[in-house]
Amino acid sequence: MLAGGLVLPVLALAGSPVYEAPLMCAGALVVTVIVALLAWRFAARGAAGMTIAAVLVVVACFLANWVSYPGSGFVVAGLLGAGIGPFLPRQRVDVPLALAGCAVAVAVLSIVRALDSVSAAALVLALLTAAALALVLGAGARADRRISASILTGVAVCYALFSIFWIGSTDPHVTWFGALTWHGPRHSNEVALTFDDGPNGRYTLETANILQAHGVEGAFFFVGKAVVQEPEVVRQLVASGNLVGNHSYYHGAFSYLDPRYPELTQTNHAIYAAAGVCPAYFRPPHGTHTPFMSHVATDAGMTLVTWDASARDWVDTDAARVARRIVDQSKGGSIIDLHDGSDGNIGVDRSVVVRALPLIIEGLHAKGLKVVRLDKLLGKPAYTSKC
Ligand SMILES: [Zn+2]
Repeated sequence: MLAGGLVLPVLALAGSPVYEAPLMCAGALVVTVIVALLAWRFAARGAAGMTIAAVLVVVACFLANWVSYPGSGFVVAGLLGAGIGPFLPRQRVDVPLALAGCAVAVAVLSIVRALDSVSAAALVLALLTAAALALVLGAGARADRRISASILTGVAVCYALFSIFWIGSTDPHVTWFGALTWHGPRHSNEVALTFDDGPNGRYTLETANILQAHGVEGAFFFVGKAVVQEPEVVRQLVASGNLVGNHSYYHGAFSYLDPRYPELTQTNHAIYAAAGVCPAYFRPPHGTHTPFMSHVATDAGMTLVTWDASARDWVDTDAARVARRIVDQSKGGSIIDLHDGSDGNIGVDRSVVVRALPLIIEGLHAKGLKVVRLDKLLGKPAYTSKC
């Protein structure tokens, strides 16, 4: 039974970016186990206590998807431990089952690491949902008969619905919540380079210079609040033949939930005022979208575009690794996602992309892939007349 409890945190952590740092992952697992054992020993097992424990498991699994730094990883690991502990039976540890659980955990971890893409998070989330349901319903029902099955079922259903919402709104490849484009034609050898979160002063301009030196053009998804601060950079990008797209106005974490999504037109107006063009391509921050947002974008004659190649360049400082990941993931039709800025904040050091870009372009060419501008890859105009 202890194994059942151990598999879950590993799955949760595997689904988070912590999996890229195996030591951190192992540390978080240790935290989970220690807290789980403490909770196993000391937590109250009444109906209220067990309900709180079940909610903690659900909250921790959900939060695991947002873990991006070691600190938050350990907090989530602790929450998981506190939730799992009370569900473990008081009797004894089943060693063969514990080993089997660890084997499953290692296998899942390996799969996730091999996939190394955002859609892997969706896969792990599905596995997690199944594991959480099994743990909460199975172990919980056995551990304490006083727990109301209806409370546990309610928690499980809420978690499943929450998961569906999370995958639908955040997976850049899932179209449950409205049309989006995440790659071009697979039969071609063309790929498109895209850059998010600028304009960002010299980093955006240096990125554009490297593209020009290699005779290629990119698509820059700009954040409205930065556009009004650096209109000249936007103008220069358009003048040098790059495509400028819309990447929200504030780049906030939750503004995508506003069904009217006013940031779309706000940003188009800012870009039009700066450079006289009205973007036809929109990339939602973090790829998060809702059906309402899709409707607003479609009504404005815009295409919602995500990506299929991404290298976590916003947290990595190793240019060679970023380049290798991008080149490995890229195939015919790929839309490559890099960041010349950070959330629309001007002045953030993005030299890693400046250093990685020549390696990426050379790597793509060596692979037989040809870099084209996003609108050419997708066969739709870069700008609309509606602004
Ligand atoms: Zn962004």
